[in-house]
Amino acid sequence: MDLGIRGKRALVCASSKGLGRGCAMALAEAGVDLVINARSEGPLEETAQAIREAHGVTVTAVAADITSEEGRAQVLKAAGAVDILVNNAGGPPPGMWTDWERDDFIKALDANMLTPIALIKALVPGMMERGWGRVVNITSQSVKSPIAVLGLSNSARAGLTGYVAGTSRQVAGSGVVMNNLLPGIHATDRAVSLDTGVAEKEGITLQEAVTKRSATIPAGRYGTPEEFGATCAFLCSQYAGFIVGQNVLLDGGATNATL
Ligand code: NAP
Repeated sequence: MDLGIRGKRALVCASSKGLGRGCAMALAEAGVDLVINARSEGPLEETAQAIREAHGVTVTAVAADITSEEGRAQVLKAAGAVDILVNNAGGPPPGMWTDWERDDFIKALDANMLTPIALIKALVPGMMERGWGRVVNITSQSVKSPIAVLGLSNSARAGLTGYVAGTSRQVAGSGVVMNNLLPGIHATDRAVSLDTGVAEKEGITLQEAVTKRSATIPAGRYGTPEEFGATCAFLCSQYAGFIVGQNVLLDGGATNATL
């Protein structure tokens, strides 16, 4: 399917690995030129090269911490005027509700709520002026169905979701559509790190931890970055113009809810 976005330009944050990389790769497949970002230069350059070789689009790689003001300034300078923004960053660490102090919340809010909001504020006005834009925020299944040990994530992402709910309706009339993608468990480094924690805590092997978590998903497996990226590319396509302020859950059926 031709997504109708060949020649557009996208900024995909936190995209050397995992879900961000999946989104970057799928947008490149649709013919979109990219600015990609991560903190570590090596894996970022490898991903940039892999995307260029696979799809022949222009890829600019900016090694910077997207959750810092300086990092965002560097990324925004390289990005210039983009048509598509995919917001992403690492997720907060797991823990216990009794342990989190104000600073832990500030860090989580900075990374997973205020960073995407800052990028939206920087880039959406230009999209509105040009009359076309797409914003996809990678949040989490935890927005719909809390994951107790990820309380910092549950809180910060809920804040972003509220902001997007209102803002998406204020910008839709100018041709800019904004939505959230909610990953359930996907096979990425983040999943390996969470599974390692489960394995250590329960005295089981990593594979046993994966099997145990897979059994909680009706699809019986983890999602893939490719599936996730394809959904992201569709939400950035010409055909997504009537999808406004939605929270699209990709969790293999794990959230047991009718709506
Ligand atoms: P991942 O495989 O660990 O990849 C994270 C990517 O983001 C890497 O490219 C990493 O590169 C980059 N990154 C992390 N922090 C960054 C920062 N401050 N600035 C710039 N780049 C940064 O993670 P993932 O599984 O794709 O997860 C992506 C997001 O989805 C996370 O917020 C995660 O919490 C959320 N999520 C994931 C799952 C899942 O099952 N995978 C489920 C629900 C929610 P560098 O380390 O080099 O910066």
